Amino acid sequence: MKAELIAVGTELLLGQILNTNAQYLAQECAMLGIDLYFQTVVGDNPARIREALEQAGKRADLVITTGGLGPTLDDLTKDVLADMTGRRLYIDEISMAKIRELFDSQGLHMVESNSRQANMIEGAEPLPNDTGLAVGLGLDHEGTRYLLLPGPPKEMKPMFERYAKDWLSGLMTDEMPLYSKMLKFAGIGESSLEHKLFDLIEKQTDPTIAPYAKEGEVTIRLATKAHTEEEALRKMEQVEKEIRSRVGEHLYAEEDIPIEEAVLAILQSRNQTLTTAESCSGGLLSDLITSIPGRSSVFLGGVVSYSNEMKHSMLGVPTELLEGEDAPGAVSAETAEAMVRGLLERTNGDYAVSVTGVAGPTTSEGKPIGLVYVGVGCKDGDVHVQKLQLPGLRETIKLRAAKTALHQLWK
Ligand code: ATP
Ligand code: MG
Repeated sequence: MKAELIAVGTELLLGQILNTNAQYLAQECAMLGIDLYFQTVVGDNPARIREALEQAGKRADLVITTGGLGPTLDDLTKDVLADMTGRRLYIDEISMAKIRELFDSQGLHMVESNSRQANMIEGAEPLPNDTGLAVGLGLDHEGTRYLLLPGPPKEMKPMFERYAKDWLSGLMTDEMPLYSKMLKFAGIGESSLEHKLFDLIEKQTDPTIAPYAKEGEVTIRLATKAHTEEEALRKMEQVEKEIRSRVGEHLYAEEDIPIEEAVLAILQSRNQTLTTAESCSGGLLSDLITSIPGRSSVFLGGVVSYSNEMKHSMLGVPTELLEGEDAPGAVSAETAEAMVRGLLERTNGDYAVSVTGVAGPTTSEGKPIGLVYVGVGCKDGDVHVQKLQLPGLRETIKLRAAKTALHQLWK
């Protein structure tokens, strides 16, 4: 089933609010196996709403709208659809009774416009609004289905979940649901991952392989339509195996969790602890770690040793490493290693991780922007240092450095 989404609201066009309804509904459609082909945002203007509805109605089997179901004169979605389909508007008595009851219970006088929220289009199925007043609807007009939902997410989501889904599933009896599986990667950029899987992504149609990057991690979503989950997993098995054989060393989870969560879960299961020493990431690594709730037994703490002085006084990094003509400098494998050793000697942590590099926008020690060293070590063990040359601006470099350090730890 081909679907389109239209978000109605001038405040969306002006950028005053973010179109979170679109994000929610797009994900829901994907899970229901509905193919979403277009998303439109249109202001509260009847001619333009009609234009958007007409265009979508021509292209799609299902048109979903959000917004414009309220009481005010700029809430026009139902009026426009009724007009466009040549159908009559009437008052849905159940919704009307609910509106009256609310006004009575609060001792308020109901103004006429409030009854607009009980408007229903002839031939449509009303969708109750348990968390607000404006009734939604599902309409089949000449083979095109229209689903009208309210704008406020706290009304739209319950209506979708409780009523619209049932209405939709009635339309899709012979369609198979879509199953998807997430594979999460760290320590590799989106473009290198794509490069390594290019031919697979190009030629693969079922299951589909969709990579996307977000917050320093790359996700691959495998998706296929199937009768059962087992059947879907079977269909994905071969391609997943191929992906693993090519980039398996970067794969850290088969669900949508950040790398820090995966790392902390492992350390906690082993009753082990962690400390951090950060230079260019400026505490971001500790911030990521402490963003995961319920793992406080793992993280002992960290040092943000931004200056050479702090690297020396807090972590014991030898001054000879940091300063002097022939010294490797703060951004070096030697310093990354000394930072890790400094932590391991001074704390009881089982694992220690360090980050030192050039986040930009200017170079430092004559070294290029994006050059970063991450060090990882454990008590009574070797220290392993990885050299990175990260692309991007300051924030991206900091994030990628922190995420790579976590991936290094995960390995
Ligand atoms: P109301 O009864 O509140 O008027 P409505 O169905 O008429 O609801 P709108 O008037 O279009 O909806 O929007 C009301 C509010 O809902 C907006 O001010 C905004 O806070 C929220 N909202 C509307 N559309 C969206 C959207 N696409 N994403 C997120 N929030 C939205
Ligand atoms: Mg409104």
